[in-house]
Amino acid sequence: MKVNGPAGSSEKNTAEILGIEIHDITMEEMPAIIKEMIGTGRPHHIMTVNPEFMMIAKHDIEFRRVLQEADLKLADGIGIVLAAKILGFSLRERVTGIDLVWKLARVAGNNGYRIFFLGAADGVAERAAMILRNENPGLLVAGTYSGTPNPEDEDAICAVIKDAAPDILLVAYGPPKQDLWIARTKERLQVPLSIGVGGTFDFIAGILPRAPFWVRKLGLEWLFRLLRQPKRWKRQLTLPKFVYEILKSKFKGFFRSERSPGR
Ligand code: UDP
Repeated sequence: MKVNGPAGSSEKNTAEILGIEIHDITMEEMPAIIKEMIGTGRPHHIMTVNPEFMMIAKHDIEFRRVLQEADLKLADGIGIVLAAKILGFSLRERVTGIDLVWKLARVAGNNGYRIFFLGAADGVAERAAMILRNENPGLLVAGTYSGTPNPEDEDAICAVIKDAAPDILLVAYGPPKQDLWIARTKERLQVPLSIGVGGTFDFIAGILPRAPFWVRKLGLEWLFRLLRQPKRWKRQLTLPKFVYEILKSKFKGFFRSERSPGR
């Protein structure tokens, strides 16, 4: 399967989960992909997919189209990796939005790429950018802006970003808004690489604590987040629904053959 966009060249394996192809990419492979995408000068959209994305896509046709058409879909959630396994595919590892942003900052620092940080509460994007720049002194911050994902603010935000002319645009408005925003504006902005990064700026800026390494290793980051942000419980209800959909998808073939003609 081709990764759309970066010169249309790279052949990448994918796992098909509920009709969406997730790319089997490791973090180690990301710097080359980032450079290839930016090298083309054309706009690319990377999505960091978790089960919530899948369940939104089930009911939101527009978001489903955006998810299908994104140039690269990474397995952000452990649920995606496990679902792939259940369905007989293999995804070598998770590539989370937050780890990707740290990696991007390193690649940008080494290659002179300019990053624009859009979204999160006032001052958070700025603080996250400052922390990333302290870690990567070569990093060029094209700009930071909180803004909103509301259509009435779109023209003003696009003007700011166009003026800043970044190579990479990180959009932190949470799913589905951030990725719908990128899909709506990418032709107009012509930023070579845009990524929806959810709560990443909050984690980098230290507004939210990240789960300890061992919790992440156990695949329980979602539980840690739920305990720290109980308000997310409604959103987390998508998890059992996702499991149900995966099992339904897994056994669809089985039940179909059970109900074979003549029975
Ligand atoms: N956000 C925002 N404007 C909005 C909605 C959300 O700036 O209208 C920000 C919010 O402050 C947070 C991020 O978007 O920084 C949403 O992160 P969320 O936890 O929803 O994403 P996840 O990490 O779960 O993908």
